[in-house]
Amino acid sequence: MIKVFKFGGASVKDADGVKNLIKVLNETGNNNKLIVVSAMGKTTNALEVVVKDYLESAKVPDSLEIVKDYHRNIIEGLFHSDQAPVWFRIETLFTELENFLEHNKSTQYDFVYDQIVSYGELISTTIVSEYLNFQNIPTNWLDARDLIKTDNTYRDAQVDWNSTQERIQATVDPKKLNIIQGFIASDPNNFTTTLGREGSDYSAAIMAYCLNAENVTIWKDVPGVLNADPRFFSKAQLLNKISYEEAIELAFYGASVIHPKTLQPLQRKEIPLFVRSFLNPSEEGTAVSKGKTIHPEIPCFIVKKDQVLISLSSLDFSFMVEENISEIFRLFHQYQMKVDLIQNSAISFRVCVDNRFNHLEDLIQHLKARFKVSYKTGVSLYTIRHFSQQAIDELEKDKNVLLKQLTQNTVQLVTEN
Ligand code: ASP
Repeated sequence: MIKVFKFGGASVKDADGVKNLIKVLNETGNNNKLIVVSAMGKTTNALEVVVKDYLESAKVPDSLEIVKDYHRNIIEGLFHSDQAPVWFRIETLFTELENFLEHNKSTQYDFVYDQIVSYGELISTTIVSEYLNFQNIPTNWLDARDLIKTDNTYRDAQVDWNSTQERIQATVDPKKLNIIQGFIASDPNNFTTTLGREGSDYSAAIMAYCLNAENVTIWKDVPGVLNADPRFFSKAQLLNKISYEEAIELAFYGASVIHPKTLQPLQRKEIPLFVRSFLNPSEEGTAVSKGKTIHPEIPCFIVKKDQVLISLSSLDFSFMVEENISEIFRLFHQYQMKVDLIQNSAISFRVCVDNRFNHLEDLIQHLKARFKVSYKTGVSLYTIRHFSQQAIDELEKDKNVLLKQLTQNTVQLVTEN
């Protein structure tokens, strides 16, 4: 049975990272694999700058040179020869991208974004695959746009499962070492789409689901899934085992280690997911599978920074009931706001949202026509799963709490910063 490995940007951020990927493959076996690779290092962010500059200037922006230089350096660190076939393939991709920039007429941000940003993954998989071939490890390089079909919701494309399944099963050779881009796909007109930031985990899950894979491993620069993000909490601890349900909850509340859409396809077929360290590939990391909720049983802390707390009440003394609330949600949907937390009373409605697509101003204007509105940007949303009073006290200690909500397993706090 085939196994799916996913390597994120941090694992291939430089030549040493690519060499380490081979070390991981050598230690775990080269065949019967499909490896899903993200763009190298912070390339997606760098390409987002290219998109912005391009839409402002309508010409090939200088910022593209940064992306080119970064990849050329990595290639030089790996191949030591300017005759290696990788150069031709990479320069062809850059030329293709420049052709798009020169000839494209669309000014639609989301469409242009996907056509440009997808090159991060096309380039990374080409370099990794060429390097594996160069090391006498033959690979089967696949273009995710031929395999994963989606609708045309650019930047947040929705998978067409039937046609995707058919294509994946017809194309992937389970005996080989297959390599494919994460994050990218294509729409019915064959324009490139993307699955949302950090979407490569989801790509791995799509591939595993369609191939009935034995398991999926996400290789990370942390030992596995921790009970807290070490950037914000000292004393983070490794979780050895988590159930699918628990992992879905954690990802939903914002634990950034697994993309939220990743888990449900795996759960459906009971395909285990491992999160392991690419620096210590012999360590076990975290297993997400059927069974016990969480081991060890400790509180899990999740923080989402830079959220918006919106408070609404009616202008005409009416209560906040079905009619008002359904209108509010329609607007959240229209402006692509992700709702993290809701609290309502007879006359007020408070909600914490993620302004991912930068539509806050428009939303507020629209809401003001019908409601009394106040809002606060830059707030933080803390979630504790399996909380204890001590965990809450510790978190609240030095913070100004704006809103607090408790359910049986989860407490959520919105704080000033
Ligand atoms: N390269 C994409 C991103 O940075 C997808 C991924 O890494 O999962 O969001």
